[in-house]
Amino acid sequence: MPRDNVVPLKPTRPCPICGKPSAQAFHPFCSARCADIDLNRWLSGAYVIPGKSLAEDEDMLPADPDEGD
Ligand SMILES: [Zn+2]
Repeated sequence: MPRDNVVPLKPTRPCPICGKPSAQAFHPFCSARCADIDLNRWLSGAYVIPGKSLAEDEDMLPADPDEGD
């Protein structure tokens, strides 16, 4: 049974930088300027990602058994 409650577009959230309604082109920001501000925050280390170990590399490939013929 098809459902009709699928929402194609996410509800507009305010720009995390200035609080204005975000624009789709710059989602989740309202403009390229705010996106740039956010990027600069990242680059300057203003954001801290908690509890993420960068040393954890997914290095586990499934061991292949004998591939004989
Ligand atoms: Zn903004």
